[in-house]
Amino acid sequence: MTANSTSQKPLRLGMVGGGNGAYIGNIHRIAARQDRAWTLVAGAFDVDAARGHAFAISEGLDPARSYDDFKAMIAGESAREDRIDAVAICTPNFTHFPIAKAFLEAGFDVICEKPLTATLEDAVALETLVRNSGRFMGVTYTYSGYPMIHEAKHMVATGQLGKIRTVQVEYPLEWMATAIEMEGNAQAAWRTDPKKNGRGGSIGDIGTHAYHLAGFVSGLKLQSLTADLATFVDGRALDDNAHVMLRYEGGARGLLWSSQVALGSSNGVRLRVFGEKASLTWFQEQPNELVHARLNGRTEIIKRGADDLSEGAKARTRTPPGHPEGYLEAFANLYAGFAEAIRAKREGREPTAIGHDIPTAYDGLKGVAFVEAVVDSSLASDQPWLTPLAV
Ligand code: NAD
Repeated sequence: MTANSTSQKPLRLGMVGGGNGAYIGNIHRIAARQDRAWTLVAGAFDVDAARGHAFAISEGLDPARSYDDFKAMIAGESAREDRIDAVAICTPNFTHFPIAKAFLEAGFDVICEKPLTATLEDAVALETLVRNSGRFMGVTYTYSGYPMIHEAKHMVATGQLGKIRTVQVEYPLEWMATAIEMEGNAQAAWRTDPKKNGRGGSIGDIGTHAYHLAGFVSGLKLQSLTADLATFVDGRALDDNAHVMLRYEGGARGLLWSSQVALGSSNGVRLRVFGEKASLTWFQEQPNELVHARLNGRTEIIKRGADDLSEGAKARTRTPPGHPEGYLEAFANLYAGFAEAIRAKREGREPTAIGHDIPTAYDGLKGVAFVEAVVDSSLASDQPWLTPLAV
């Protein structure tokens, strides 16, 4: 089955945040409707209630289901027979915890943006709540929605690379190379405020994507790390560049780079995994290809849509090879996966391939724990690169 072949009735989606002028909310809406997996029916779209209502009307929603805030939304939706099946939380980081907690406690399934929370304490509490409540919680680690990322994961898991030795992952961006947070950029303003964003700047915003991607494909569990955070833009309160050395259980090593000041880079997410027998390279600007190089052998380009790909990759593919699929389809794959996971849970059955290997609250918790460890490491005084050179 491919992602878009569902014949079931769409699930009902609610949204908090993501109103007019917001970034990721619109991507969620495009992704959610792409496979007829979800229909948006309710929301509290903006921190400003009047703006939120105006947005709901522009989206064609029933005004009765446009709420002043998330608390009113929980009250209103709880009272309805056709209540939402899940809520998508598309707000700044520090609000994820109170909003997600309230919806979970009211018995709703949740789809939440990353990083899961702004603090580790909140992340632990939220993940515990998800486990104890039995509710579903998906976290939108976008890059794990790509079919060729699932193919890479499958190739590692089936031993085609041999034992993994090294993982190189990077997420460079240039959009915060100047102090745009001081020039009225709403997205940059909260991202550079530790109270709203959390302790990790670039490492929390995009480093968490890179960390998840590396672990998702390699299957490796991180044991320890050492980090070097930098803030290059004057007056900025959080890091805008991070280098992190990784030690995985079993001896593999890794290197992660996240940067918001990398001129010329626009979402250039790149992953390279090196094993004893072969390596794999994936680059988001050519997301339909995976480069596979064998020891003393040929290097081949594996294309999305090829007949011999894994079930996980096929389930996330819509069009034949050569027709480009990309970011929006990857995001839609997450939404199709969340819908399938929720349906399977309700029906007491195993999910189909699209509902497997989807990012959950536990992955969200791991991301926040990673950010905390990176910031702690960078502040510590016993790091290897502090060793001075003799010459
Ligand atoms: P944004 O500033 O563009 O939008 C935030 C929206 O939330 C605004 O509409 C704002 O009015 C609304 N809002 C704030 N507090 C609210 C509240 N209490 N109730 C209702 N609405 C509220 O932010 P953004 O760039 O879209 O980021 C939002 C979240 O998405 C962040 O956690 C960010 O890390 C994440 N994000 C994820 C990806 C990804 O690839 N998965 C990409 C970008 C952003």
